[in-house]
Amino acid sequence: MSQIRTRFAPSPTGYMHIGNLRTALYTYLIARKNKGKFILRIEDTDQERYVEGATDVIYNTLKLVGLEHDEGPDVGGEYGPYIQSERKDIYDYYASRLIEVKGAYPCFCTKDRLDTLREQCLKAGDQFKYDGFCKNIPMEEAIARRKEGEACVVRQIIPESGITSFDDVVFGIISVENSTLDEGVLVKSDGMPTYNFANVVDDHLMCITHVVRGSEYLSSTPKYNLLYKAFGWQLPTYIHLPPVMKEAGKKLSKREGDASFEDFYSKGYLTEAIVNYIALLGWSSGTGQEFFTLDELKAVFSTDGLNKAPAIFDVNKLRWMNGEYIRKRTLEQFHEIALPYYAKSITRQDIDLFSLSKLLQPRVEVLCDIPENIDFIDKLPEYDISLFVNKKMKTDLQNSKTSLEEAFRVLNELEVWSEHSIHDALFKLIEKLGVKNGQILWPIRIAVSGKQATPGGAIELLTLLGKKESLHRISGTVLSMGQI
Ligand code: GLU
Repeated sequence: MSQIRTRFAPSPTGYMHIGNLRTALYTYLIARKNKGKFILRIEDTDQERYVEGATDVIYNTLKLVGLEHDEGPDVGGEYGPYIQSERKDIYDYYASRLIEVKGAYPCFCTKDRLDTLREQCLKAGDQFKYDGFCKNIPMEEAIARRKEGEACVVRQIIPESGITSFDDVVFGIISVENSTLDEGVLVKSDGMPTYNFANVVDDHLMCITHVVRGSEYLSSTPKYNLLYKAFGWQLPTYIHLPPVMKEAGKKLSKREGDASFEDFYSKGYLTEAIVNYIALLGWSSGTGQEFFTLDELKAVFSTDGLNKAPAIFDVNKLRWMNGEYIRKRTLEQFHEIALPYYAKSITRQDIDLFSLSKLLQPRVEVLCDIPENIDFIDKLPEYDISLFVNKKMKTDLQNSKTSLEEAFRVLNELEVWSEHSIHDALFKLIEKLGVKNGQILWPIRIAVSGKQATPGGAIELLTLLGKKESLHRISGTVLSMGQI
């Protein structure tokens, strides 16, 4: 069998949709698993939708997640150019050939005529279908008029009867009656091809063996197959992927910030977690294994594990998985990626940030959780005094105040301020007073952080904040509690 060649063919929209990234991943994995080639092609024939810098978004995303391509606009290759807008001459040549082999015809209908036709179809409750008016123009005449530069589009010729079928790897046999297919536009009047034409020409010329793309193209694939047939070209293997949904019947939405890779990346999701999670959106290894590195995926991925049901993107599962990946990093690595978040939230110079990382790594699921976890460090936030009342810890306002006064005394005497010395001093106090650990530790946690949930407990917080700040917060709290 010839070498497997797959392609990822995004349109430069300015962002990478999660569903598209999954398509890229599967496309890449099929190539890598089979020692084939993974090609990047930019589908920018729709110039009206051109977005500045959009191609860079594609390159950057693929690079960040580690899907390196073997051929593409930026790395070259023997089947270029890999940007469709640079392939106009090629489409032009193949459009003329298709007309010659009676797979297409020039159509000179005016916009007015088409609008009227569209209205008629609408009135009759039918979907718009071109009525084949220009098919009746003698071919020689039509070709000559097109050559002379008369404004026209090129339309595909669809057989009036019969059925076109193909076997999709995921969806099985797909059949459509040719009579339901529209003789759609292949080349627009500005000479630009439509996706319907360009994808076929490019996939053939780039020797693509496996076409992997979203299932929204499933129903038009028979039309593409008729083009392959008209040209006498061999069909690729088709692998259509089900959509990625927010929940049944609801799409991921860019506006709600849950549709694009950038949204997640900028919130501090790790690329390896994103890759792992999206790999599972519609594919399973069959072994129940959930954690995969990209290298592991390259080794085990198989189209047998693809599912045709729409995949549900469960952001909570991604969060959880991201947390697991955060924990897989070394402390040094975590510290490195957490630093920018500290820089934004902490201005105090006396905080041992590495110790802070030690406290945060076990509890952070996504890096963007960091600011809310450390918002008490610079300044004690306002909080409700009822936080001192905790049934489980057996604390109320009265005993909390006493505990803080006692704790202040022993902590104030400490000459060495370390986790160890603080621990010893507080546990000695607990023993001396004959109280439960929580009765001392809980009030301290609240007094120095203003929060019930903190990275680390009272002892870690005291160590982190330093003696001066800790005592200042404790004494301030005692004062503000006044006469209880
Ligand atoms: N340019 C198309 C898209 O972004 C790709 C379809 C295909 O892979 O053939 O949806």
